Amino acid sequence: MVKQIHHFIGGKIVEGTSGNFGDVFNPSTGELSAKVALATRAEVEAGIANAAEAFPIWSNTSPMARAKVMFKFKQLVEQNMDSLAELLSSEHGKTFTDAKGDVTRGLDVVDFACGIPHLLKGEYSENVARGIDVYSMRQALGVCAGITPFNFPAMVPMWMFAVAIACGNTFVLKPSEKDPSVPMRLAELMMEAGAPAGVLNVVNGGKEAVDTILTDPRVPAISFVGSTPIAKYVYATGAAHGKRVQAMGGAKNHMIIMPDADLDQAADALIGAGFGSAGERCMAISVAVPVGEATAEALRERLVPRVQNLKFGPSMADGDFGPLVSGDHLRKVRGYVDLGVQEGAELVVDGREVNIQGYENGFYMGGCLFDRVTPEMRIYKEEIFGPVLSIVRAKSFDEAAALPTEHEFGNGVSIFTRDGDTAREFARNVQVGMVGVNVPIPVPVAFHTFGGWKNSAFGDTNQHGPEGVRFFTKIKTMTSRWPTGIRSGADFHIPTMG
Ligand code: NAD
Repeated sequence: MVKQIHHFIGGKIVEGTSGNFGDVFNPSTGELSAKVALATRAEVEAGIANAAEAFPIWSNTSPMARAKVMFKFKQLVEQNMDSLAELLSSEHGKTFTDAKGDVTRGLDVVDFACGIPHLLKGEYSENVARGIDVYSMRQALGVCAGITPFNFPAMVPMWMFAVAIACGNTFVLKPSEKDPSVPMRLAELMMEAGAPAGVLNVVNGGKEAVDTILTDPRVPAISFVGSTPIAKYVYATGAAHGKRVQAMGGAKNHMIIMPDADLDQAADALIGAGFGSAGERCMAISVAVPVGEATAEALRERLVPRVQNLKFGPSMADGDFGPLVSGDHLRKVRGYVDLGVQEGAELVVDGREVNIQGYENGFYMGGCLFDRVTPEMRIYKEEIFGPVLSIVRAKSFDEAAALPTEHEFGNGVSIFTRDGDTAREFARNVQVGMVGVNVPIPVPVAFHTFGGWKNSAFGDTNQHGPEGVRFFTKIKTMTSRWPTGIRSGADFHIPTMG
């Protein structure tokens, strides 16, 4: 019988009762590896009720005691790194090494959360009027919720729950139904680290589970990461129900290659950023924009052999990338490559048909490289989320710089150049949330914040860093004056009892 994955509520596994299950695959073999229970409204409500019950005690626990749990959790995740990465790789399809990176980038946010007591300190102004002081404090919100995508099943949940819980909130996580095992394991490790039951609950499910979170009055804040249409829906529905929502969406990230760039370096960077994790990263580079024909020709010459020689295969083998997450997603990405050919782009390297001996049913495709892609094409406008890199040739810096600015998405962008002035002007003016200069994937470190612009993010606070603390706390400002009665007159006798 195939393994079943249920929910984690009140510190223990709780069996799903809906009778509805989602399929979890091993993308390397294409086999069904588990069935995940899809929660009903009542089951999600039970998770929320449990988190609500845990909130008074947890929010009254001292910030240092909460930080101690995060320190212990960090230690446990480090001790379990290999087994977590293997589990992650077996459901997502990213390589073992890349899966360790997924866990490690999440742990960086746990490190940050260990220091959150420092950021919960309020402000104080003495004597704003005679005898009056003003001070502010940051307080936890209550039951916060996170809804996460398949592509970073360790990092993105940790972006959210580590910060929320260290701030004194309790948390309900609704992970992607495609790879739910690592989030479940993380919740177990949080309990082992000393978080009281109910502080972190995991409910598995799909739309019904999400809709329950979006409408339940006991949930004041929702953090979402996923595709743009769902991000928009979550943002609008959550806001209509009076919640604060941050909702990160899809992306189309450009890399601009100036004529003065080191082209070998730029080509290597493009290969890693475009094809790592089979392109299933919201910060993957999917558009290369060489400036000038000579740069375009020289870059293409370097990219072609690199794309042809990409090593891909089962996720636990030592390749550059593994399979895509599901058969459906594989068909969608291949469909985009077919579309690009129909739209008139030049398919320079075609990775659509591959056969890996012994793994014939796995969800594999090789690297694809398009040249002469234009901004009118759907393969340029839409997020493909696969191992497909497009070259859009620009005649000038201005033409190149306008592309990411005018694109509907604005998650990440990068420029490769040796010219500081060009880089500075580009970074200042581009309408994108995260910018790399000679850095292909500018994912900010945990104590800065992560977030895109335009249709890549809805809401006004980013993930983690001080912005994350702001999102998961509310500010209260006190204005106080004390009566002066006890100070009138003097008492010269030594105080005595009675
Ligand atoms: P997705 O939008 O399909 O799913 C994300 C979450 O929403 C999942 O938990 C899913 O169960 C839920 N969901 C799906 N359909 C829903 C519906 N109709 N109603 C309510 N909830 C629904 O995204 P995905 O395929 O899991 O992840 C890939 C996407 O996430 C890509 O677009 C990628 O760019 C994006 N992403 C963005 C960031 C970022 O920070 N901007 C980071 C990682 C991934």
